[in-house]
Amino acid sequence: MSPEHSPAASRPPVARVFFALWPPAELAATLAGVARDFAHQAGGRPSRQDTLHLTLAFLGDVPISRLPELQAAAEGVRGEAFALTLDHFGLWQHNRIFWAGCATPLPLAALVHDLKVALAASGFNMADANRPFVPHMTLVRKVARLQTPVAQCVPQQWMCREFVLVRSRVAASGADYEVLTPFPLIG
Ligand code: ATP
Ligand code: MG
Repeated sequence: MSPEHSPAASRPPVARVFFALWPPAELAATLAGVARDFAHQAGGRPSRQDTLHLTLAFLGDVPISRLPELQAAAEGVRGEAFALTLDHFGLWQHNRIFWAGCATPLPLAALVHDLKVALAASGFNMADANRPFVPHMTLVRKVARLQTPVAQCVPQQWMCREFVLVRSRVAASGADYEVLTPFPLIG
C-alpha cells in the first residue's frame, strides 16, 4: 500500500482540545511559585505560569474540520461572569497530582452543565461527561513523595469574565497549550 492510501493517511487531521478558565497573569505567577516550592519538596513536574488553567470540559481529539462547529456550539452558551476563590490545596494519591481548588459557585456549575449539553447536542463526545466536576488547577504532576504535607492556601480571588477553547500539544517535557477562542461571560 502506498503511504497516501494507508489507514493513517486517510484519517482526518485532529486537534486535542478542551474548554477551560485561564487565570490572570498575576494569579498564575503566584500559583507557579507555589507549584515550584511544592515540587522542590515533593518531587514532580511543576506547571509553568503560562500553562496554568482550570479545565471545564475535555474533548480530546477532534477533527480540525469540525472546530468551527465546536466553536459555534460554545458560542451558544451564554454564561454569567463570576468570582472564584481558590482556597485549598490537595494532593491526589491516585494520579500524583498536587492541585489548588475552589468551591463551585452556581454560575460555574451552570456553565459546565450548559457546555456539556451544548457539546452533546452538536455531537461532540466529552471524555469526562460522567465524572462529577471538581474544579481544580493542576500545580504539580507526577509527585514523587505522596506523604508531603500540603500547606494552607491563602485565598486567591479571581473574576472569571470568559472561558476559552484550548488546543493541547502533549510532549515528553509537558503539554503546550494554545488558546484558540475566547467566549465572553456576561456581566
Ligand atoms: P500532561 O498530559 O502532559 O500531563 P495535561 O494533562 O495538562 O498534560 P492534556 O492531557 O492535553 O494535558 O490535558 C489538558 C487538560 O484536560 C488538563 O487539564 C487535563 O487534566 C484535562 N484532561 C485530560 N484528559 C482528561 C480526561 N480524560 N478527562 C478529563 N480531563 C482531562
Ligand atoms: Mg494529560
